[in-house]
Amino acid sequence: MGDMDCGPGDRGCRETLREIERFLDGELDEDLTVGIRLHLSGCDPCTQRTEFRRHLKVMISSKCAERAVPPELLARISGLLARGDLASPPG
Ligand SMILES: [Zn+2]
Repeated sequence: MGDMDCGPGDRGCRETLREIERFLDGELDEDLTVGIRLHLSGCDPCTQRTEFRRHLKVMISSKCAERAVPPELLARISGLLARGDLASPPG
């Protein structure tokens, strides 16, 4: 109680930031999501941290995606699938 709570609403900054990862992943239930949105709408420090994490996540995920599936490979796979080579037995 009274632990660095700076924002409005029932939710404090610490509680908000503790759930922020799952909030960004969309893994929280609606009640929690609404509560965090409410807190963010009135708390600049938490909003800034959330935005920072969101950008970080997007950057990381786009880099990982590039590395995991090269465009050439994607093109080859979709080409094979289109021709049905993967489905038909060899010979
Ligand atoms: Zn806050």
